[in-house]
This record gives sequence, structure tokens and C-alpha cells, in this order.
Amino acid sequence: MWRSGGRRSLGVLRRLSGGSAHHDVQRWRSDQACERALQYKVGDKIHGFTVNQVTSVPELFLTAVKLSHDNTGARYLHLAREDANNLFSVQFRTTPMDSTGVPHVLEHTVLCGSEKYPCRDPFFKMLNRSLSTFMNAFTASDYTLYPFSTQNPKDFQNLLSVYLDATFFPCLRELDFWYEGWRLEHENPSDPQTPLIFKGVVFNEMKGAFTDNERIFSQHLQNKLLPDHTYSVISGGDPLCIPELTWEQLKQFHATHYHPSNARFFTYGNFQLEQHLKQIHEEALSRFQKIEPSTSVPAQKPWDKPREFQITCGPDSFATDATKQTTVSVSFLLPDITDTFEAFTLNLLSSLLISGPNSPFYKALIESGLGTDFSPDVGYNGYTREAYFSVGLQGIAEKDIQTVRDIVDRTIEEVIENGFEDNRIEALLHKIEIQMKHQSTSFGLALTSYIASCWNHDGDPVELLQMGSQLAKFRQCLKENPKFLQEKVKQYFKDNQHKLTLSMKPDDKYYEKQTQIETEKLQQKVNSLTVKDKQQIYEKGLELRSQQSKPQDASCLPALKVSDIEPTVPVTELEVACAAGEIPVQYCAQPTNGMVYFRAFSSLNTLPEELKPYVPLFCNVLTKMGCGILDYREQAQQIELKTGGMTVSPYVLPDEAHLDTYEQGVLFSSLCLDRNLPDMMHLWSEIFNNPCFEEEEHFKVLVKMTAQELSNGIPDSGHLYASLRASRTLTPAGDLQETFGGMDQVRLMKRIAEMTDIKPILRKFPRIKKHLLNCDNMRCSVNATPQQMSQVEKEVENFIRSLGRSRKERKPVRPHVVEKPAHNSSAGSPQVNGSQIIRKLVTDPTFKPCQMKTHFLLPFPVNYVGECIRTVPYSDPDHASLKILARLMTAKFLHTEIREKGGAYGGGAKLSHNGIFTLYSYRDPNSIETLRSFGKAVDWAKSGKFTQQDIDEAKLSVFSAVDAPVAPSDKGMDHFLYGLSDEMKQAYREQLFAVSHDKLTAASNKYLGVGKSTHGLAILGPENAKIAKDPSWIIR
Ligand SMILES: [Zn+2]
Repeated sequence: MWRSGGRRSLGVLRRLSGGSAHHDVQRWRSDQACERALQYKVGDKIHGFTVNQVTSVPELFLTAVKLSHDNTGARYLHLAREDANNLFSVQFRTTPMDSTGVPHVLEHTVLCGSEKYPCRDPFFKMLNRSLSTFMNAFTASDYTLYPFSTQNPKDFQNLLSVYLDATFFPCLRELDFWYEGWRLEHENPSDPQTPLIFKGVVFNEMKGAFTDNERIFSQHLQNKLLPDHTYSVISGGDPLCIPELTWEQLKQFHATHYHPSNARFFTYGNFQLEQHLKQIHEEALSRFQKIEPSTSVPAQKPWDKPREFQITCGPDSFATDATKQTTVSVSFLLPDITDTFEAFTLNLLSSLLISGPNSPFYKALIESGLGTDFSPDVGYNGYTREAYFSVGLQGIAEKDIQTVRDIVDRTIEEVIENGFEDNRIEALLHKIEIQMKHQSTSFGLALTSYIASCWNHDGDPVELLQMGSQLAKFRQCLKENPKFLQEKVKQYFKDNQHKLTLSMKPDDKYYEKQTQIETEKLQQKVNSLTVKDKQQIYEKGLELRSQQSKPQDASCLPALKVSDIEPTVPVTELEVACAAGEIPVQYCAQPTNGMVYFRAFSSLNTLPEELKPYVPLFCNVLTKMGCGILDYREQAQQIELKTGGMTVSPYVLPDEAHLDTYEQGVLFSSLCLDRNLPDMMHLWSEIFNNPCFEEEEHFKVLVKMTAQELSNGIPDSGHLYASLRASRTLTPAGDLQETFGGMDQVRLMKRIAEMTDIKPILRKFPRIKKHLLNCDNMRCSVNATPQQMSQVEKEVENFIRSLGRSRKERKPVRPHVVEKPAHNSSAGSPQVNGSQIIRKLVTDPTFKPCQMKTHFLLPFPVNYVGECIRTVPYSDPDHASLKILARLMTAKFLHTEIREKGGAYGGGAKLSHNGIFTLYSYRDPNSIETLRSFGKAVDWAKSGKFTQQDIDEAKLSVFSAVDAPVAPSDKGMDHFLYGLSDEMKQAYREQLFAVSHDKLTAASNKYLGVGKSTHGLAILGPENAKIAKDPSWIIR
């Protein structure tokens, strides 16, 4: 995997709260791990390491222990925190000086076997032998990171052993280099008459990555703004440079970069530090002596005058306006990220400049109507040694480039002149407070990513974590100097000559030209081959193929057993009570650190069919258009000042017992600090009772941004779009899911964004409101601390009493509605007042599934393939068998066929809660061939050619997902949304344990074979002659 520069840059604040959370709730209250870590003394010697610093970081509930390894100088940071989801990572500073992708190819190749574990792909194999909650590897611009996390101590040791051996003692065989990096091979390896072409996992991955225009832009931005050293090259590899890399260079790069003296080790969680140190010392570090790595990045020499560049990209077929596909941004070099307070300040300053409708750049650029959205990497980018700030627009006309540049300059002048409103600064500091309190399930991972860049350049990671003291210092600076921020803007933006203007416009011939350059490169290589070379290439191709076809022995790898899996589900205590006499409210008491999480679900059953396609847009803008006396700016201000976010999204919820039954509705979600609950509930009440749909210009802006986001998301989520479309005709819910979130929705948004008169759309919203924003068919849920519950009850009661009811009872649009009580949990949680969550499900007894094959033409050189099969609902015992089967097919068949042999970036099978069995591929050079592989996978499953060991591995893998940690904010959601009780989950768990070889082959035969169940197919990808000729395909 590869992360380009600032691509994932979400900024400090958003990064830290990222993801959905996780902790062992009961333990959360004690802080044993932190206490224990505070006992270490500076100078303590532990297993070859010396303790250098011990710091309590109360704002993040952790203790930081910094150590160094005596013999090698390896650095180590342990963050002790009472969190069972323990994490390990090792990070190497990898600073390539060319675009051959050497660090990226190395990241792949070290995973092809090591001294102790000489089997290929230990990560993929460990996925099935472990209960890990996360395993991966990333190549960033200047480091390579290998993280994993797990809640099981034995698993931690197993994974640590595999990670250490892979990174420090990899085999790096020549064949692996060809396979992962690049090679020349016959199109059909067994036929020397077919032409020679470039192949290789990284080669294909990078070709796929650069079909994403935002990524092309980000990459060039970094390369051109920091042109003097490692940031001028593509660490992931330029597909046209990758074929220059040699095996020797790869081995050399490993020897100089993957050395303990160039490594930073990180551990997080509540496991014992001593055990980690002992294992790392004994299994790896004790075998090395110190070296002086020359991997540091020198400071970028500042420019004496601004620079400009123009680049091109492929056309965007979903662009709302074909003449407006140009992107332009202005970027400024900022100071070294190791100056942590300056970085903190500039990060906050960037948020003030660009976040939300009240920020100066939003007002000046987004609301100018010139473009569709901000340019990629907008805001603060702290992933390179010197940070940078970038701002601009995408989706503009080429002639407006200069206008955008002028607006940027003018806005900077205005900010220097006027500064920021106090209220906006307060809102931002409030946001940081929330983000420190909100618990994420992947907090260890968020922390390791947060400190990686700064630590990589020898900054102090502990200082970075002490956000409380940084915040205090920031407030102090503001107090002492009211112009503190304005002066920074002047210094870093106005007076800064290191300023880059980058523009990018589409070229219709872009992909053609890329292909042509590649062909020339290929021709060059092929022409220089001797007869003997060609013979060797042919033989190596065959050797590679035979190696892949050989059954692989993974028995060298450590493994957990099925008996290591927890036999029972943990109980979640829930209470359901009625508010205002009739609206069910689910209460879930959790240690939420002083936060309240409020949700409401409202049914769409009475909404006329023709309005349904507009529900996603309605949801998207509902909290952004103003309400009551607040205009949209004031509303945004209130939401930032009083809440951690208020969002609305449509949901199609499957029934656990019937495939043709589902619930349709909209989920309102929000969070806030305890003290702000009355304000947040007041905002909800205003949004429900008095939403504004008048601001036409602002609405246009929101529509354009949404359409642009959807269009930009296709390269990353193509497989999801393909699967949604493929399952559209298999269940009654499928059609609605496609309407809400599939390619139909992408196209609808494109059409709306192109409308000159948008009023007809706005006029639909009051009609949707009437059916949705009342308490006719509503239920609510709250997660908060037990102490807070009585206060919450009062506020929810007030909120519901403030809502209207329809004067006459509305009839559901579809005639068949079943009322179904959610299954209540057993003795553990008695019902209050006999209240229950009642779900109003829609059913369609006349529904007939049918087959449909759709090909969406996209201008990408890669495909996304989806095949869906209608199977059985969650409560059917066969669901558990199919669940395990999907994992088994992925690990033991599809991975080899689609990724290893087929060259796709990814592919596999999965079974959803809704009973749809999906086979898919991701960034795939093939399409029809992949569908054939899906067929072969089914034959393989039916033949039962797998062992008990294979089944056990699939079980471990499924359970690590089933038992993935759930954040205190999300506990009880299975019950609230899907009506699942702990008993039902326990029953399902037992069915999973009981899955046997016989059950698996029986399920394969019963559901997956041709003619057994209805299949649907969809492909997103370039034109395809075979499909065009086949009339059974619909081409769109
Ligand atoms: Zn990769």
C-alpha cells in the first residue's frame, strides 16, 4: 500500500479522533496501565534498552515512556493507556532519491517471506491465524510504517514475531522482486508467441493510483513545492520509472534503511512494556550493531521568488461541466514540523482560514461560484519535513485561473487587516476539547500516524501529544497579542516568496499518451533483449506461475486456535423508555468521558416514491441551510461552538429473518459535551420544526461540492458501486440502496449540479420534510455516562414534545408494512414501562429477483467487477456457513486468482448482513476473465477441496471482524438499528463455531451454483469489445 504525501491529510485534529472507536469499557475507569508506567525511572535498564523519559499526558489518559536501545541506537516510544486494543508499529526513515518506487517495492517484498517464516505473504496469511484488529504496511513520502493491533496478548507476541522477522530478516528473493515490483512477461506466460508486457504488483498499483486526478495533483504539488531532495520524487513509484529498478538496488536499500539505527519502535495499550522490549531485543535488535544512517532530509532552501507550473490529467466523465475541469491552487512553504508549537499554531490557523462556511476562504472561493470544491490537499499539510499550506479550487474554467489567484491574495490581505472573530477561535478550541474526549476504537493507530512525521525528523513525539499545554500556550499568545494570528498570516503567506501556483487541466488524450509512453518504454526494453534473455523471461514466467500454483505451506507461521476465541458475546446493558408517552428511547450507559451521543431514526414509509431519489441530498444539506432565526452561517457557528457534529443520512436496514423485508429511514446523529446538551437539542428542535430551504445560492454551492465529492470517490470505491448495482435486482431493498448510494445517485447529482434553475429541487424539500421531520414514526437513542442520564432524559423529552405530529394519519406508500418489535435483551436489562423499539418494515410479497448485467463505461484503464448472489437472511443457520465460506474463498482461492495471477489490486468474497453474497475485484486489469475466476471459485467451493485447518483459519478471520472493538459511543447500535439482541448475536456466534466442512460444501451447492440462486453482475471500467458484442449486457 502506498500513501502519497498529504493525500490523507486530515489535519491534526481530525486525525486524532479518526475512525470509530474502541476500548474495553469496564477497564476504562481504572488507569492501571498508566500508573504502572509511571513507576519507570530515567536511567532504568530493561532488556538492552535505557529509559530516557517518563511523562504523564493526562489530556489523552496516557503515560509516555521514551527509551533507546543501547547497542543500536534504535528509538522506542511506549504509550501506556488502559485500552485493550494494543498496537505495535515499526517505522523506518525511507528517503528515496528517484521515482523507481524502491521503498514501496521493498514494503511489498519484505512480506514475501523471511528467515524464520519463509512463506509468501505472511500478512495475508496471518489475517487468518490471528484475531488482529488491524494489520498493514504503508509507504509514505519519507518513511515506511508497519503497524498491527490486537486485543489478545498471545496474538500480540505472534504478530510481533512475524513483523520483526519480515522487516529485519526478509528473504528478498529475486523472483519475489519481479513479482511484486516489475517484470517483462508474455501476456500469456505459457505462450511465448504472445507479446511481452510489463507486469508487477506495484507497477499495476501505481498505474491504478494515478487514475485518480486528485492524487495526480497532490503528487505534483509536493514534488514541485519541495524540489531539492526526496520530496521531488514519487516514493510509491512512477509507473514509467519503476522498470528502471534492479534487484541489487532493492537489497541495498533494505540494508541501509531497514536497520535498527534507522528505526523507531512504538507500542500502545495496556500490555506489559517489559515483554515487548524483551522480545524485540532478543528476536531482532541483539543481532545488530550501530550504524550511522544517512537518511535525514535536509532543510528545503527557500525560494527568492514564487513559481508556477501547469500539468494535465485524464478527463473526468462525471464532471458536472465539461468546460470546467481545471484545478488551481496556491501553496506556501511553512516551517519545520519539529517545531511543535509553531506547527500546532499553523494547523489551527489553517482551520480558521478554510473550515466551514464562516471561514474567509470558503466565503471568498467556494461562494464565488467559480468552481465546484476546494483543490486537493487544501489547508495545512504536515507530512513533509517542512509543512505547507495550500488553497485553491477545482472544477473551474481555465480562464478563471488568474481570478482564483487574485482572490487568494486579496483574502490574505483581508485576514491580515481584519483578523478572526473570537467566536470562531472559541469554536475551534471547543473542537479540540471534543476530539481529546471522544474515544476512537483505533486510538493507537491514530496516535502512531499522528506522531510519525514529526518523530521521523527527530522531533519530540511526547511534546506533540501534550495538547493541553500547547492549547494553554496558544491561549496565552492570543491574550498577550491580539494580532498574534494576523502576524502569522503576514509572515507565512503575504511575505513568503516560497509560493507555488499549480494548475491542472484535463487532456482528452491523456490516457492515450500515457499508454504510448509506456509502449515506447516497453519497446526499448524488448528491443535490447537477446534471444537468450527472451528464453529466460519465458522460463521465469513459467517458474513464477508454477510457484503460485503450488499449495503453500504456512505451517511455519504462529497461529491462534479456534479455542482462543471468546465463546460468548459481551452483554450490553440497554434500557428502553418512552418519551412524551409514545416515542421509544434507548438508553445505553457508557464511560463516554463526559460526552453525550444522541441519535434519532425516522421512517420513510409515507414518503411518495418520486421524492426518494432526493432524500440523500435533503439529508446532506439539512443541517447546513439554516434553521429558525439562524441563517446558514450562524447555524454552522452554533454547531461548531456547541456540538461535535450533527449529521443526517439515509438508511436501508435489512430484516434479520426475511430477504424481502426491510426498513427505510433516515438517521440523525450528533454528539456534544455534557454541558452543551440543551443547546444541541435546541438546535435539533429548530432543524426539525423550522428548517430553511430558501438560500438558493448557498444550496447551489452545496450541490456542486456533493457532486464533485461523489465523482472523485469513484476510483477509490468503484468496487462498492459495482456491487451495489449488481445486487439491485436481487431484493426489494436493493433498488432503494442503488437509488440512495449507487451510480444512479452519482448521475442524479451530476444532473442537478448542471441545472441552471435549481428551484424545482428546492421545492421538493418542504414535501420531504412533512413526511420525515416529525415524530410519527421515530425512535431515539442516547449513549452517555450513567450520571448524565436523568438530565438527558429531560432534554430528549423536551425535544420530542417540541415536534409536530401529522394532523391526519399518513398512509404508507407501499401497502405491506409489518410492525416488528426489536428483540429485547434478556434478564440483564429489564424493560422500563414495558417499552420497546418497534420497527416498521416494508415487505413485498410479490417480489421476483431477476438477473441484470450492467457495464458502466468509465475512462479509467482499470476495472471494478462485482457479482452478487441472493442467499439467506441473518437468522438462517446457512448465513453463518456462507459467512465463513466467503472468507475461505477469499483467502484460499480468490486472492491467488485475482490478485496474484490476475494482477488486480484486490478482490474477494463477502456476505453482508442483508444476505447478499458478493464476489468483487478492485483496480483490476481484467473484467470478463475475472468473472470466469468467480465461477471457478464457486466450483472450488463446491468441490470441498479445503482442509479443517483452512476452515479454522477462516473462522479466526471472521471472528476478528465480529469481535472488532466497539466504541462507547456506538454500543447498542445493533439493537437500535437492526433490532438485534445479545441473544441473537450469541445464537449467530454459536452457528459460526458450528460451521463444518459438510455445511460449507452443502451451502456452496445450495446457493452459489449456476441456476441455484439469482445472480447480478456489474462492471465499472473502460470499453470492452467482448461485452459490447454480448446483448445480455446493458451498457451505460
Ligand atoms: Zn502497495
